[in-house]
Amino acid sequence: MDTKLNYINGQWVPAASGKTAETRNPATGEVLALTADSSAEDTKTAIAAAKKSFYETREWRDTDGEARSDKLLEIAALMERDKELLANLDTLDNGKPLREAEGDVSDAIHCFKYYAGIITAPSGHSYEVNGGFGPMHSYTIAEPIGVVGQITPWNYPLLMSVWKLAPALAAGNSIVFKPSSNCPLSTHRLFEIFDEAGIPAGAVNLVLGSGGAVGHTIAASNDVDMVTFTGSTKVGQSIMADAVGNLKKIGLELGGKSPNIIFEDCDLDGAVEWAMVGTFFNQGQVCSACARIYVQDTIHEAFAQKLAAKAAAMTVGNGLDNPDIGPLVSEAQMNKVLGYIEKGKAEGATLLTGGYRLTDGEYAKGFFVKPTVFDNCTQGMTVIREEIFGPVACIVPFHTEEEAIAMANDTEYGLAGTVCTKDIGKAIRVMKEIRAGILWINCCQPTFNQAPWGGYKMSGIGRELSVHGLEEYQETKQVNIALDPGPIGWYVNG
Ligand code: NAP
Repeated sequence: MDTKLNYINGQWVPAASGKTAETRNPATGEVLALTADSSAEDTKTAIAAAKKSFYETREWRDTDGEARSDKLLEIAALMERDKELLANLDTLDNGKPLREAEGDVSDAIHCFKYYAGIITAPSGHSYEVNGGFGPMHSYTIAEPIGVVGQITPWNYPLLMSVWKLAPALAAGNSIVFKPSSNCPLSTHRLFEIFDEAGIPAGAVNLVLGSGGAVGHTIAASNDVDMVTFTGSTKVGQSIMADAVGNLKKIGLELGGKSPNIIFEDCDLDGAVEWAMVGTFFNQGQVCSACARIYVQDTIHEAFAQKLAAKAAAMTVGNGLDNPDIGPLVSEAQMNKVLGYIEKGKAEGATLLTGGYRLTDGEYAKGFFVKPTVFDNCTQGMTVIREEIFGPVACIVPFHTEEEAIAMANDTEYGLAGTVCTKDIGKAIRVMKEIRAGILWINCCQPTFNQAPWGGYKMSGIGRELSVHGLEEYQETKQVNIALDPGPIGWYVNG
């Protein structure tokens, strides 16, 4: 069987121990490939390669912005050529419907093109200053941070990788990258593309393996200047603790438990459809899912019935067949979601539809959960407080705007939120009250390379995408030039 190797210093190499792990298709349970199961030592070798590339050979770092931009466009073109393969890899490895994987690949290609564009745009600021020192010209320049470690989750395997790799490469950093061991295949293919495009040796390094070995070593290494992580809040906290040794810069894109507030004056059918997207897209395995649904009491019954009917009608199946919803990513994730469903039932939520694993026929070997809708949830319930990360909608009725805002903000997370109403004044008022980094009004989930992505509170630190996403991977240097290089008359007695 095909074994996927690490990419270190421009070479494809196995784990030094020779150990491998399996990656499986969650629709069928079949093993798709073996992957290097790397250790802390393998990771240190990759970090050393990145360090040498940034601080000694400097080839990528010293490549000028225009040439770096050209290289990113070349990568985008190679991804375009491999579009079908990349989408198929994500569907096989992750389970998502093929059309969603194709959408991810298109977004990923545009992300490279976007950063190819903005890296050549004017940047920095300049000021004419004095400050009592005589006339000076002060300006800023952006420089790469150095060795950047990047760690990603499994829910958008290719896209989450590209959101990190494209801006970090555009900025001129050297990278050590660890994808989720659940779904590493599309990122592995992307590194084959980097190799084909001729990114200089050591500038991009891929280490396959577990978070405990590879991820922890990256986060704790004093030779890594920055670590960026997308994943659970719990692991994000351990990354932050690991990073303290050299006070490395950190970027954290973490979990969420986002609200969707639906007022009586909304377009009801539109609100139902966006709530479907906000709950069931990607099998509900979306950090910004808005599956905590607050519905005004006057339309609550009608909304709940419509949502439940639509959820019950969803097709479930192998992602390659393009159903509405595919399997969850792994047995462990499925069991976690089923555990939350049982808690919802036990704590008194009303189960309107779903609530169980599908096991007959084609479902027998996969990890399929029937789309689930709970009604009459309350703030204290586990399904309202914790991130489920599965196809489970939880409806809570509310009476007043103030009550809805208070319940929406009653969470340790702050990634996203949705407001549905035709009253634009109310929409903006409520949007401003929600303590979260991404807000949708009369829509839910659209994401753009041009707009910053990230959370408040325990949903993270920093922003990805947009110009902010580039700046996260840059240091800002202040440069001051005295316009008159002569003496200024200080220390006349010195
Ligand atoms: P996870 O368990 O936190 O894992 C994320 C990554 O961290 C994986 O590559 C994992 O490796 C690695 N890891 C595990 N333990 C580690 C450690 N001690 N040190 C360093 N790295 C470690 O999250 P997940 O289950 O893959 O993804 C789901 C979570 O991601 C959800 O909470 C979701 O909300 C969040 N997410 C957030 C965003 C956002 O933009 N805010 C986007 C997508 C997902 P292995 O699993 O390979 O061992």
